[in-house]
Amino acid sequence: MSPTYDVIVVGLGGMGSAAAHHLSARGARVLGLEKFGPVHNRGSSHGGSRITRQSYFEDPAYVPLLLRAYELYERLERDTGRDIATLCGGLMLGRPDSRTVAGSLLSAERWGLPHEMLDATEIRRRFPTLTPGDGEVALYERRAGLLRPENTVAAHLQLATRAGADLHFEEPLLRWEPYRDGVRVHTAENTYTAGQLVICPGAWAPRLLTDLDVPFTIERQVMYWFQPEGGTGPFVPENHPVYIWQDADDVQIYGFPAIDGPELGAKVAFFRRGTVCTPETIERTVHAHEVVAMAGQAARLLPALPGRFLKAATCMYSNTPDEHFVIARHPRHPESVTVACGFSGHGFKFVPVVGEIVADLALTGTTDHPIELFDPRRLTALSA
Ligand SMILES: Cc1cc2nc3c(=O)[nH]c(=O)nc-3n(C[C@H](O)[C@H](O)[C@H](O)COP(=O)(O)OP(=O)(O)OC[C@H]3O[C@@H](n4cnc5c(N)ncnc54)[C@H](O)[C@@H]3O)c2cc1C
Repeated sequence: MSPTYDVIVVGLGGMGSAAAHHLSARGARVLGLEKFGPVHNRGSSHGGSRITRQSYFEDPAYVPLLLRAYELYERLERDTGRDIATLCGGLMLGRPDSRTVAGSLLSAERWGLPHEMLDATEIRRRFPTLTPGDGEVALYERRAGLLRPENTVAAHLQLATRAGADLHFEEPLLRWEPYRDGVRVHTAENTYTAGQLVICPGAWAPRLLTDLDVPFTIERQVMYWFQPEGGTGPFVPENHPVYIWQDADDVQIYGFPAIDGPELGAKVAFFRRGTVCTPETIERTVHAHEVVAMAGQAARLLPALPGRFLKAATCMYSNTPDEHFVIARHPRHPESVTVACGFSGHGFKFVPVVGEIVADLALTGTTDHPIELFDPRRLTALSA
């Protein structure tokens, strides 16, 4: 007979590991299926650091979710003793009318979030590694900072296991179908049945969720680590914020303080300048011309940063057309399937609250969190 569960979670990356934790913490019998090993580097949740912030330029609708995510991240650190969040402060830099600055200010004002507006002189005085242009300004948020993605995933897997979840690694879902009041799921090893299916597929969404009818675009993104000229001293998190800078041509870069000691440098990357790929065809080699382009752009804001190139790594964004998430009951299988995907390069800071929302949806069919923005039917021909 097929082993039976309350909920099967497919994909144990950022979102799926959080879902497995929140579901099992509420007493559900959970099976987690993951294509690769625990905490791997072939999806979207690796590379040592992710920015977190609350004055959200993407849309003020995200702010209540961020406030909850901050609480849950704090609890996750407490419950597991792992080093996850470093709130070293964050700067959203650019022209006053750039989306990065104006959008952040809109969210800060709408939600009464603590923030400061700094002009170029003040930015240079307080953060001497940075050399913004004279017309540029920044919103400074003291509670912004960074999260460690690998530690986050490991913490959620640890708590899920502790609560009794069965987590199967190197066991991809091959296919599933509706079965009685729930679903039947097939892997190469076994067939399982459950009342509910949760799909958190990351960059595999186009393959696993064809009948969602959302036109996802999977993008290759590169992260770069440089050893700053003169060493990492001025770049340590005690002295250095995370930053997102939008230049006059609307090119955005973002970066981090030096969090891994004097030898491992500081990370910087382009935001949204990827090339279309699939998880099977992604070019993992980073080419010299890419390093040159990154060093050139970073040097305009942080002249000392690109002293010596250390390493680079690739990662994938799963973009929706409007860059907002998809978190919902599956419109074609509303009784038994929940989906969380299309995080469009900005999902990590939401990981624990997405786990909570997915657990709500799978166990009760609804959630008190505001997720109207994430309804997939906005992107498809399916009627609401
Ligand atoms: C370079 C880069 C920088 C980023 N920076 C930030 C940032 O600063 N701040 C921020 O908030 N966000 C950031 N993001 C975005 C954020 O990291 C992602 O939104 C988030 O990690 C997505 O998590 P996920 O669970 O959807 O995907 P993943 O963590 O990739 O998880 C999906 C999982 O599904 C598994 N899977 C796929 N198919 C199957 C199958 N058939 N059976 C079983 N398992 C399967 C995969 O192996 C994978 O483990 C960044 C992303 C990248 C790539």
